[in-house]
Amino acid sequence: MIKRAIYPGTFDPVTLGHLDIVKRGLELFPELIVGIAENPKKKPLFSIEERKEMFIESLKEIGLNGKVKVKTFNTLLVEFAKREGAVAILRGIRIVSDMDHEFTMASLNRKLYPEIETVFLMPSDDYAYLSSSAVREIAFYGGDVSQFVTPFVERKLKEKFRR
Ligand code: ADP
Repeated sequence: MIKRAIYPGTFDPVTLGHLDIVKRGLELFPELIVGIAENPKKKPLFSIEERKEMFIESLKEIGLNGKVKVKTFNTLLVEFAKREGAVAILRGIRIVSDMDHEFTMASLNRKLYPEIETVFLMPSDDYAYLSSSAVREIAFYGGDVSQFVTPFVERKLKEKFRR
């Protein structure tokens, strides 16, 4: 059976840290599906369609076009994982403080769906302190985000915050 994993998140917007995890995930799993969660509770800056477009265009820009499927979901994560036939959920751990939240989610997901494994990956040190919220904040004040996101996402942020 082909081992398929999903990499879920809000991706508001996708950063080079997320893309680093995608690259590492592809080394472990022949099939990887990025799952963009609608997550209305988080009140995302970008719509789910915009977040999907930014992920697809970013994959093209780093040469991973066609290697990863990008889908959206608005159900429980485990339902999405089941529907996609995934054996693993991929999550990124940047710093120790991520662990609290990630471990809680992983154990809840295991209770809901014991067949699925959560796999934690560490990004390159360059991205250990990078988050979508920091990128949004820097872009809001007109700062340079080019070392944190792809050129496509940089343009989308500029459009969003154009005053
Ligand atoms: P969520 O709302 O599900 O936390 P995010 O888009 O913030 O969605 O993050 C998705 C996943 O990517 C999470 O596992 C998060 O820890 C991880 N992640 C976020 N930023 C980075 C980064 N810079 N490097 C590695 N992993 C990251």
